[in-house]
Amino acid sequence: MSIPAELAADVIAFRRELHAHPELDLELPQTQAAVLGRLAGIEGLEVSTGEGMSSVVAVLRGEAPLPEGTRRPVVLLRGDMDGLPVTEETGLPYAPDPAGTMHACGHDLHTAGLYGALAYLGQRRGELVADVIGMFQPAEETDGGALRMIEQGLLEAAGPRADAAFALHVYSAKYEHGRFVSRPGSIQAGCDDLIVTVRGRGGHGSVPHLSQDPVPVAAEMVLGLQSLVTRQFDAFDPVVATVGHLTAGTASNIVPDTATLSITLRTFSAGSRARLIPAVERLVRGIADAHGLGVDVRPDCEFPVTVNDPAEVDYARGVIEGLFGSEAYEELPAPEPGSEDFSEVLLRVPGAYILLGAVPPGQDPHTAPTNHSPLAVFDDAVLPRAVEALAGLALGKGPVAL
Ligand SMILES: [Zn+2]
Repeated sequence: MSIPAELAADVIAFRRELHAHPELDLELPQTQAAVLGRLAGIEGLEVSTGEGMSSVVAVLRGEAPLPEGTRRPVVLLRGDMDGLPVTEETGLPYAPDPAGTMHACGHDLHTAGLYGALAYLGQRRGELVADVIGMFQPAEETDGGALRMIEQGLLEAAGPRADAAFALHVYSAKYEHGRFVSRPGSIQAGCDDLIVTVRGRGGHGSVPHLSQDPVPVAAEMVLGLQSLVTRQFDAFDPVVATVGHLTAGTASNIVPDTATLSITLRTFSAGSRARLIPAVERLVRGIADAHGLGVDVRPDCEFPVTVNDPAEVDYARGVIEGLFGSEAYEELPAPEPGSEDFSEVLLRVPGAYILLGAVPPGQDPHTAPTNHSPLAVFDDAVLPRAVEALAGLALGKGPVAL
């Protein structure tokens, strides 16, 4: 059974409305109002909004009969809502005007898809055993909206803590149109940024021995990091350390007081992430100490590794293959190097993060502009499939024994 044509058209129209008005970060007032407007049409939905951010949580109660000695499972479905500070260059008729922000990561499709899934589940609630939490999230790209929603009670929104959680993410390139892609275990990298400030003492460049020069110390840290990566970490559980920004001083003849390194660390397992951050701190402190200088280390952004539960990936694969055939699912051989704050949900609730190919027709997935590009185009013809898959993931869950 596929979703009604009327609902499919409504979901695509909603996506285009959202696409024309992208908003950034935690405050998405127009997007939130549009979501609330659509959700108002779904009977019996319990809707609440976040504090200090434009999140929306919607709970839909299953009405299928429940056997004695069981309770309803709670299934969480996520749709993120924020755009990016990118000037769209696709030429699409519904591109934002004025330009300057863009749904360049396809979160407009996620928001519309989650609305569609709730609307469809609303029509089929007599067959729905589960209670469903719809998580409309701001600030996926920036400020960790998922963690804030968890702190405001997201996981317990339906009563008992969510039993399973799922999110889809569309890709404008890389994966075949309409194909669902996932893997058990790590699927997106962990990301940690550190700001390291080397504290010396400035002076005249001609007499460095009368000052404490932070520049060669910072340089040693840059090189030491690369040795740390290859000498202390398993090549089959790789880590990435990049110093993307390095600043010190004002003129050739002045020893500066400080030097600053901005480091991004990427990891693909919780174990490596737990070891890497202290190892980098130890390295920079040790190098500074060896030269008699001080150092401050400040974390700047922290995203855990996104880890899929193997049993929930198996379940999701079964649901997707049951709906669309075995061609519709592909197992990813290695994690994606980007990061995702659905990781915060998956740290607490077993679930699966699943990619969905939305490359426009006629374009080669290997050469099409990628997510975050001003030229990225996401084909919303995949939306009915996304809606059906999300709804299917909720419909497939049976009662939980008490
Ligand atoms: Zn995204």
